[in-house]
Amino acid sequence: MIDQPIQTMLMQAHGQWIILANIVANVMVNNDCYHAFLVLTKIGYSKIPVLDKDQHLCGLLSLSMITERMLDTDHIAPENLRRMKVKDVMQTDFRVVEDPDDLDEVMHLLVDDSFVPVVSDERTFTGIITRRELLKRVNYLAHNFDDCFETTKRPQDSSSQ
Ligand code: AMP
Repeated sequence: MIDQPIQTMLMQAHGQWIILANIVANVMVNNDCYHAFLVLTKIGYSKIPVLDKDQHLCGLLSLSMITERMLDTDHIAPENLRRMKVKDVMQTDFRVVEDPDDLDEVMHLLVDDSFVPVVSDERTFTGIITRRELLKRVNYLAHNFDDCFETTKRPQDSSSQ
């Protein structure tokens, strides 16, 4: 449970909390890996969502998941990628949130991952929340808490010292 003053300050509008789906780079589940390799290389993001034709979130795809499939025993074989679909190499075991304002959950997930996908109840992809956006707000909180709230230090519990 996050203390209310902290929650209030983190959720004050400073910009978009969610990067909406229409501006999140993605690949389609039935794209071949050669195409996905070009997309990932060009956009410069290390991991992106994988969607189906109805905008459902099916997986996540990183450059390393693809490059691993290019490695033959003694050489690099990019032609392998033409034979593989994104759905054959994508990560399917990952966490999502349905409520982007569930800060407790979002913060826990962003400890391990650089972004968390947001979906609707039918797993339609809504957007992502990034660790960068959270850190911007933590930075704001750290520098402005005193301007918004009065705090007094509790007496130390001597048994815990
Ligand atoms: P950032 O905190 O902005 O570096 O973003 C963290 C991660 O979120 C990136 O490495 C990408 O995996 C993902 N990401 C951020 N913005 C986008 C975007 N517009 N499209 C696709 N993925 C994104």
